[in-house]
Parts: sequence; C-alpha cells; structure tokens
Amino acid sequence: MKPGKKKVIVVGGSISGLAAACLLSKKMDVSVIEQKPKEEIGNKVCANVVTSTFLDLARKLGINPKEITLKKFSLAKFCSESNSVDMPVEDYEINRKKFVGLLVEKAVSNGVEFHFKTRFTGLQKIYRRYGVVFENNSKKTMETADFVIGADGALSEVARKAGLWQNRKFWLAMQSRVFKIERKIFPGSYEIFFIKKFGYYGYIFPSKSNGYIVGVVASPQDAKKNFSQFRKSLKIKKCDTNAALIPLPKAIKAQKGNIFLAGDAACQVKFTGGGIIPAIESAFALHDLILQKNSVKSCRLKREILLHELVTKVLSKLNAEDFGMLFETAKKTGRDAAKSRDKLSKWAVRVVLRNPKLLKFLPKLL
Ligand SMILES: Cc1cc2nc3c(=O)[nH]c(=O)nc-3n(C[C@H](O)[C@H](O)[C@H](O)COP(=O)(O)OP(=O)(O)OC[C@H]3O[C@@H](n4cnc5c(N)ncnc54)[C@H](O)[C@@H]3O)c2cc1C
Repeated sequence: MKPGKKKVIVVGGSISGLAAACLLSKKMDVSVIEQKPKEEIGNKVCANVVTSTFLDLARKLGINPKEITLKKFSLAKFCSESNSVDMPVEDYEINRKKFVGLLVEKAVSNGVEFHFKTRFTGLQKIYRRYGVVFENNSKKTMETADFVIGADGALSEVARKAGLWQNRKFWLAMQSRVFKIERKIFPGSYEIFFIKKFGYYGYIFPSKSNGYIVGVVASPQDAKKNFSQFRKSLKIKKCDTNAALIPLPKAIKAQKGNIFLAGDAACQVKFTGGGIIPAIESAFALHDLILQKNSVKSCRLKREILLHELVTKVLSKLNAEDFGMLFETAKKTGRDAAKSRDKLSKWAVRVVLRNPKLLKFLPKLL
C-alpha cells in the first residue's frame, strides 16, 4: 500500500483492465490480478478488427496506433440470402498481443503491481473497504482495497460475487484461421453474412499475417452446427477452430458501492459483438467516475450500449426478406452505417428520419 493513495484492485489483465490500470495509476495505487501467465496475456480468440475510433483511443492511452495496426479495411460487404450491399468503412486489424504488451509496459512504468497466474476467488466488504481474495498455486491471499474493478471478461467472477450478474446472455463465437478460400474477396475488404443458417452472422476477415479469419457469432447451442454450415458454404474442409463467449450487449448496472465492472464483464459490447472499443471507453469512463466523480462518459457509454442492445434484439429477429429490404434501404441512404457503429445513437436517429419505412422493424423489439 502506497501511503496517501487510494488502493484499486483490478481483476483481469486484458484490454479493459489494463487500460483502467494505466489511467488510474497516475493518481492511485493499482494492483492487477490476472489468471494467465504474463506471456499468455493478449492471446484471446478474437478477430481483432476495430473501427477508426480505436486510433484516437490508443493515442489517448499514450500508444502510437501505427505500432499496433496491421491492416486497413476500406470496404465491408454485407450479404443476405437475396442481396448484398457494399459499405465504405475505415476499419483496422490490430495486433492485440502487442497492444496488450504495450499497456502492461505503461502500467508497470506508472507503478502498477501485477499478480499473474493468480485467480480472483472472493470478495467481502470490510467496513468501507473490500477484502479481495485471490489464489496463486493453491495459496489463498486477501488484500484490501478502496475500489475493485471487475474487468474479468464474459464470465465475470467479480460480477457474480458482487451481485451484479443480472441475467446476462451470451453468443458463442467460433472461428478459424484458414489459408485459402475459394470465394473472391476484394483487397481491402471483408464480408459479413446475415444468413440464418450461419447463426447471428458469419464473417470473413482477410488477415495481414496470412490467410483469412472466418467465423460465426451464434447462440451457444447452435454455434457448432452454424459454423459447420458456414465452412461448408466456403468449401473449407478441415481447420483448427477456437471458440469463446461474447456477452450480448446489455445496459446493466455496473456499479455497486466502489465495485465497478468494465468491458465484457459489464456486457459493454456492440451489436456486432465487437468489444475492444467499449472496453477502452469503459476504462476512460471509470477514470472520470473514480477520480473526478464525473459520470458523463459512463452515462454516455450506458446509453450507447442500451441502443446496441435494442439493435441486437431487432437484428436477431429479422428474416431473409427483412434483411433484403434493410440492405436495399442501406444502398440508398445508409452507406455511412458501418462507419457510424461507434456513435449508433446519432446515426440511428438520422437514418430512421430519412427512412420512416424502417419503423416497420419496431414491433421486433417486443
Ligand atoms: C471469437 C471472437 C472474436 C472477436 N472479435 C472481435 C473483433 O474483431 N473486434 C472487437 O472489437 N471485439 C471482438 N471480440 C470481442 C473482444 O475480444 C472483447 O470484447 C474484448 O476482449 C473485451 O475485453 P475485456 O478486457 O473486457 O475482457 P477479456 O479480453 O475477456 O479479458 C478478461 C481477462 O480477465 C481474466 N480473468 C477472467 N477471470 C479471472 C479471474 N477469476 N481472476 C483473474 N483473472 C481473470 C482473463 O484471463 C482475461 O485476461 C471478439 C470476441 C470473440 C470471442
């Protein structure tokens, strides 16, 4: 414990946890508890594609985005069963391992203490502070802290122990890296398939480091079948497959006293399942909330997540015909949709005002 500084324990040393540790350690005494060994952090199954918003956020974290962006995408092709629409994007594939490594370096230079190969297992209130229990090699330790941040991913143990679980739901994302596909993908583009037999959607991202990342985001019970159908349609025979859960976006209560949830642990995910940007935004929101008692960013993030929750609800109920109509509408007036998915509220209002026909999807919210 550093004298005169409030103590924060961050559970989870991935994007949201490390970004929060970097920001808070300027003024606070921060420890990070991470269950993986140091050399394995940043190894999460992920397509690692982000919007251009990432560039700004990386800079604000003091990281040069050029060091971690691998490839730029300028076109996204969205396919339904009957039609497709090409949308301009400015998206990037990032080197997640390197990004996470740079965040650790920054945190260490700010004085953050790391406990790797250490698993958070318990939480108790001790007067105005919290007793945080963790295990390393079966050895149990308890440290006390003024603030606890649960940045421990989709299955957040902190959310469970703090009573902040709130009936969340999950997708299962299954993906493989393949070196050849028969489908022709234009350079600088990726493809997304809103076709029911592939689950919520299927994706193909050409990767800088050889080949393609192909995957589906689907309900956990159907993901295996959906991914097999997707691979069949792309004529991919055998390949190694990885899978991980993604929380459905949900504007949950992410604070109880001085316990906060961030990133996937707080279901802060976009309707696309993308969570890297919300994870970083949640760290900035926590910085303002904890150090300045300013809730503007956290309220804004919650509002955006609520909208992503609603859009997810609508998209998952659309049928082939609905997607056909949606893509036709997008061809006419929604061509900035893919670019605007980080500022969904502004974009959605503009598009619905231009296309009152889209209100036909409102009953899908029920
Ligand atoms: C297949 C797939 C593809 C994806 N593709 C994209 C994409 O292209 N773009 C995008 O933006 N997002 C994507 N995502 C989502 C993105 O990976 C997550 O939203 C993001 O990693 C969330 O970061 P986080 O720090 O909140 O959580 P995580 O990255 O999940 O980190 C949680 C950390 O907590 C640690 N932890 C967990 N429990 C404990 C415990 N009890 N004690 C100690 N440590 C613990 C874990 O080891 C982990 O390091 C994808 C997800 C999947 C599954």
